[in-house]
Amino acid sequence: MYYEMIGFHGEAQDEPLTDEIECPDLSKATLFLDLDGTLVDLAPTPDGIQVAPDLGELLGLLYERTEGRTVIISGRAIEDAAQYLQGFGGPMIGGHGAQERLVDGTIKRHELADETTVQRLGDMADSFAATHPGLLCERKPTGVVLHFRKDESLAAPAYAFLRALSETHRGFDLHHSKMAYELRPAGIGKDVSMRKMMQQDGFAGTRPIFFGDDVTDEPALQWVAAQGGIAVKIGEGETAAQARLEDPSSARRTLRRWTQKEH
Ligand SMILES: [Mg+2]
Repeated sequence: MYYEMIGFHGEAQDEPLTDEIECPDLSKATLFLDLDGTLVDLAPTPDGIQVAPDLGELLGLLYERTEGRTVIISGRAIEDAAQYLQGFGGPMIGGHGAQERLVDGTIKRHELADETTVQRLGDMADSFAATHPGLLCERKPTGVVLHFRKDESLAAPAYAFLRALSETHRGFDLHHSKMAYELRPAGIGKDVSMRKMMQQDGFAGTRPIFFGDDVTDEPALQWVAAQGGIAVKIGEGETAAQARLEDPSSARRTLRRWTQKEH
């Protein structure tokens, strides 16, 4: 404990990792940032996350430095993610790409996310979770998630249940993420949304940067790396990213350092 406090352990070790990442010219970049596990530590339940008090201010600075091209890209619904990011008015992509918040604040929903089907899938997953204490059902405007973080022995039944739903509801794919399984419309992904956004006026021609932590972030990390951008994996696990940071606090430190550097 003492060693941790004075920095011989943990904090001291991630500094060299942090320094491996070059400081990009933010005025020529588009910065995509995942939220959970990337900017904010994961918690036992999705609504249990603790947001660093200076996160909103940091995002505001990044938004200025990138001239409006700092984008929060999350698996959460935009309405949900936004409540943790008070003060950030920039673009957001939610539901892994199923929703997009434009700069004027309006939220666009992907046409693939059929409302009636999403409702029905949510009702069924809710009932399933109700009979399996330890499973948490998270309903999204575009899909549904079963979290088994509280009881890992429920991973298999949660998978089997959603797998069956994905087979009986065409157009919805099953995805595995950290301690959770999720159903979301096929053809949706962070990488798909990123490509689309990078073609828009004001974004085209800039260098993509992406910070992500989850297996579901891999296609986007791979795409960013292939564009000559900067792909940064947060935490452990195999990755296509060229750089890695230990945890959300080292990610925030790195981003803070970038805002302080003049080009
Ligand atoms: Mg994440």
